[in-house]
Amino acid sequence: MSDRFEVTATDGAARAAVLHTTHGNVPTPAFMPVGTKATVKTVDPDELRVLGTTVLLGNTYHLHFRPGEDLIAELGGLHRFMAWDGPILTDSGGFQVFSLRDTIASVDDDGVTFRSVYDGALARFTPESVAQCQAKLGSDIAMCLDICAPVDIPRAELAEAVRRTTLWATRQRKAPRADGQLLFGIAQGASDPDLRRRSIAELGELGFDGYALGGLAIGEERGVMFETTAWGAELLPADRPRYFMGIGDPEGVLEVIERGVDMFDCVLPTRTARTGSALTWEGRLNLRNARFTRDPRPLDEGCTCPTCTRFSRAYIRHLINQQELLGLRLLSLHNLRFLLELTANARVAIEHGRLAAFKADAPGRLGAPAA
Ligand SMILES: [Zn+2]
Repeated sequence: MSDRFEVTATDGAARAAVLHTTHGNVPTPAFMPVGTKATVKTVDPDELRVLGTTVLLGNTYHLHFRPGEDLIAELGGLHRFMAWDGPILTDSGGFQVFSLRDTIASVDDDGVTFRSVYDGALARFTPESVAQCQAKLGSDIAMCLDICAPVDIPRAELAEAVRRTTLWATRQRKAPRADGQLLFGIAQGASDPDLRRRSIAELGELGFDGYALGGLAIGEERGVMFETTAWGAELLPADRPRYFMGIGDPEGVLEVIERGVDMFDCVLPTRTARTGSALTWEGRLNLRNARFTRDPRPLDEGCTCPTCTRFSRAYIRHLINQQELLGLRLLSLHNLRFLLELTANARVAIEHGRLAAFKADAPGRLGAPAA
């Protein structure tokens, strides 16, 4: 067993574990709120802690361009810069580069050249440059530069993305890191059985502190995504954390936890807030709906978040309709709390061997639009 990751309970394929990082322990399964530009939109780091956040995600792509890793390093690193002293995972920037395909100028075995979304200037990422950027940010967990191929590209192109992802992981593994910084590899290969297996095997042979399943939740059919997650997770080393990149809808979260995923991230709680919606055990509530005009109840009856203990649906609806910033903040606080609590409760269920019952209790209530 790795001394950085201890599995403490299992329930079927699901695990409860603890990941030890330089800035503290992360009990898993863990949901990581996304702090794209060194902030989880509208939420103060002290509030994140109160809501139950144990680890945050920062986006290397955005921080590289604004304000730049050198400036952040000069001001003491990302933790001090954003006043969050808990664990931080930074992605490599690869996902942004390869999902903004129109901005790519060229890809070769050495790296990728692209135009910045900020000012259109040409920029280049290599395994060494993203390692250096993440070392300067000083995150607890760094991610390898990978190629996330779009859904339904020809198989030969997917194979090429897998080949380069391994090549880059090999180089990044040797690059300097911040003190105590963990490095996770990212397996690609979409839902192609041979390519995904090859990617997992090659990364496993290199040896990383953790492994991500990348290239999923990007538009493929959901059944295929969960199926790939199930066999993919099983092939990953059992003594290392498994990270599903980019899932945050409540039903999806429970599905990947059941299949042995330990960590996941998504902008969904804050993005949903910006559309005026709340995640609740009754389903998704759209606060713009007229039926909430005189509704004195909290967003979710059982929720103990700072929003639900003080404010009514009617008040939040009023704020959203008037585009008041507090409305956005109150919905973000609640939505983050909802997903963090769902994940924490799933962890307790795993410890008691009751995940299946916990999950069976959820469908029909989660995610379905109630308004
Ligand atoms: Zn709440």
